[in-house]
Amino acid sequence: MHNPSEMHRGGCLCGTIRYVVAEAPLRSAICHCRTCRRAASSPTLPFVTFPTATFSFERGTPQTFASSADVVRTFCGDCGSPLTYVNRTDSETIDVMTVSLDHPEKYPPEDHVWVSHKLDWDVIGDRLPCYPQGRTDQSDAS
Ligand SMILES: [Zn+2]
Ligand SMILES: [Zn+2]
Repeated sequence: MHNPSEMHRGGCLCGTIRYVVAEAPLRSAICHCRTCRRAASSPTLPFVTFPTATFSFERGTPQTFASSADVVRTFCGDCGSPLTYVNRTDSETIDVMTVSLDHPEKYPPEDHVWVSHKLDWDVIGDRLPCYPQGRTDQSDAS
C-alpha cells in the first residue's frame, strides 16, 4: 500500500521530538486495550507497525516508560505526546502512534485489536475485522 522507498516522518505536538523510518509499514491497526487507553488518555490508540531497523529519532530524546515488563513506550517529556511502543520479545518491529505521523491519513487501519477491553460507549463505526485480543495472524502481517 506504500512505496517502500518513501520516508515516514512524525513527531510530537510541540516539535521537540522528531522521528523517521525508511521502510514501508507492516500494518496499521487500532488498539482498544486498557494500557494503551491510559497511555493515550483516549478510548483507542491507533498505531502503525514498522521494521525497527531503520527507525530513528532525528531530533530530541524522548522519555521512556515501561508499561509492562517487556514493553517500552516513549513520549515527549515537554508536551506529553505518546510516540512509540516496543515489545522486547519482538524487537524487530516498532509501533508508532499513527496520529503522531505527519500524514496519518496515509495509514488507514486494517483492523481493531483488544476489542475485549473496549469501552461500551466507544462505538466502532467501520466494518474492519475485530480481534478480542491481539491479531491472531501476526506472522502474516502485510
Ligand atoms: Zn513535544
Ligand atoms: Zn494496546
